[in-house]
Amino acid sequence: MNSETKTCQNCKSEFTIEPDDFSFYEKIKVQPPTWCPECRYIRRLLDRNEYNFCKRKCDATGKSIISIYRSDAPFPVYNQEYWKSDAWDPTQYGRDFDFSRPFFEQYEELRRAVPHLAMVNSNSVNSEYTNQAQNNKDCYMLVTSDRCEKCMYGSWCEKSFLCSDCYMTEKSEFCYECINVAKCSGCAWCYDCSDCIGVYLSSNCRGCSNCFGCVGLRNKQYHWFNENLGKEEYEKRLQTSHLNRGFLQEAREKFSRLRLSIPVKFYHGMQTQSSSGDYIENTQRARSAFNCRDNKDTAYMQDAWQQNEDCRDCTEIIVGQLSYETQGVDSPHRTIVARSCFNTITDSCYCDMCFGTSNCFGCFGLKKGSYCILNKQYSKEEYVELKKKIIEHMEKTGEWGQYFPPEVSPFTYNESMAQDYFPLSKAEALAKGYSWRDREKQEYQVTIPASKLSETIAETNDSILNETIGCISQESPGEKENRPLCVGAFRIVPLELEIYRKLQIPLPQKCFPCRRTDRFTLRNPRRLWKRGCQCRGKADDSQLTTDDKGASRYANTTAHFHGGEPCPNEFETSYAPDRPEIVYCESCYNSEIA
Ligand SMILES: [Zn+2]
Ligand SMILES: [Zn+2]
Ligand SMILES: [Zn+2]
Ligand SMILES: [Zn+2]
Repeated sequence: MNSETKTCQNCKSEFTIEPDDFSFYEKIKVQPPTWCPECRYIRRLLDRNEYNFCKRKCDATGKSIISIYRSDAPFPVYNQEYWKSDAWDPTQYGRDFDFSRPFFEQYEELRRAVPHLAMVNSNSVNSEYTNQAQNNKDCYMLVTSDRCEKCMYGSWCEKSFLCSDCYMTEKSEFCYECINVAKCSGCAWCYDCSDCIGVYLSSNCRGCSNCFGCVGLRNKQYHWFNENLGKEEYEKRLQTSHLNRGFLQEAREKFSRLRLSIPVKFYHGMQTQSSSGDYIENTQRARSAFNCRDNKDTAYMQDAWQQNEDCRDCTEIIVGQLSYETQGVDSPHRTIVARSCFNTITDSCYCDMCFGTSNCFGCFGLKKGSYCILNKQYSKEEYVELKKKIIEHMEKTGEWGQYFPPEVSPFTYNESMAQDYFPLSKAEALAKGYSWRDREKQEYQVTIPASKLSETIAETNDSILNETIGCISQESPGEKENRPLCVGAFRIVPLELEIYRKLQIPLPQKCFPCRRTDRFTLRNPRRLWKRGCQCRGKADDSQLTTDDKGASRYANTTAHFHGGEPCPNEFETSYAPDRPEIVYCESCYNSEIA
């Protein structure tokens, strides 16, 4: 079988269906997709609201609750305990399938009738504002996180303690504004680092302690912008800087210059075989994978975290096999199109918010069960027969194999995760036909503008906990325009202050959504470009040289496999061709940095 180029019916750009894609679609008996992989991914993300919480009433108990659904959502919403209890029965809403109408229309009617779970947050203590999260204690505004204690404003944190504003931390403590760190302690603004202690503003460091502004170091101490200062001088410099705002601003600029002078590997991760993507680890034949571990024979997967085999188009998944077009489903097995399903879902299609179900079709909110269609119970034989007929019907209507239509998502573009990975302005979103909701004007009584916050943490006293700080994005008109998610003001919670004091860093000047947007911008986009290795060969001195445009270029320190000639390797990378980084293939990168 050959690859085929198709035109996406959504964005009209061309995309390729590879031979292994065709065999997958054949295996699960769906038609090849009509939308390109990126449009399919955005369609799934539109269904996912991780951290826009609102206060509303539980439609069963009347109590005030926190939910990801606004009070004007077109369906009932129950609080966690009541939803999971036996007080109501989702099969009460069961109905017959009508072959004179499209499937999605009937499914949407069912979904609007059945109560929704206010948030997905289980087995957690004192962690009301956590979503898609479990086993956490004393956490606040934390999403997609597990087994954390005293963590705030983060996502993808695991087994971490007292971390704030982090994205992807594993077994880390006292960290602030870090991305992709593991086993780190007392670190701030660290990116792609592991086993580091007391490291600030650094990237790609391993086993380092007491370093500042460093890039690509291994097992080093007391380094300052990659220079070995020794303990005494290092401590002196750190102390005289007072880590004040002005110093940090200059340090950030210096750090980004240093970062651009040292090659980067074309992807983040390791142990990948015949795979493409970014933030990937231990993968075999995983194509276009983002933030994926232990994937085998998969394509177009995102945030697929443990064993996933023979799957395509799954977003936010832990373990899966032979599944397609799922979002927020922890363990799908042989499942086609599903969202927000937990406790393993098997041999099912078009299910949403179902727990531990098998052989179900078009169901919503089932807490267990098998052989249900549109929440109605059938015998095994009846189920098999009816399922076959519905699939034939959906093949005729063009619905079979398509994910839930984006128009019925309860979230607008800017409330959904689509805005995080594919940010659009309001005008752009509306032009593309997406919905948008302006933030309701909150009547915050700002008691201190961010520009008036003290320069250092030493000058900050506990009274800051009583202040409402105006986000600095609101202070300049240009910035205000670019910040559609800004909430305008923020407060400091005691746990946060503890972190700033421990790390000796000044208070943030932006609100949580602005900080979150900044963090996402620091990471490469979830897109790939074909490029060649930028290594020019030649093992000369280790000084920076200058190219014909006057830009700094890196000179290799060791001999590479391609000798004095430019490296011939090509790859797919999330570093776009116009980015300033020096992008190396794995072999060249390992020769220099490893
Ligand atoms: Zn498209
Ligand atoms: Zn803001
Ligand atoms: Zn190379
Ligand atoms: Zn090379």
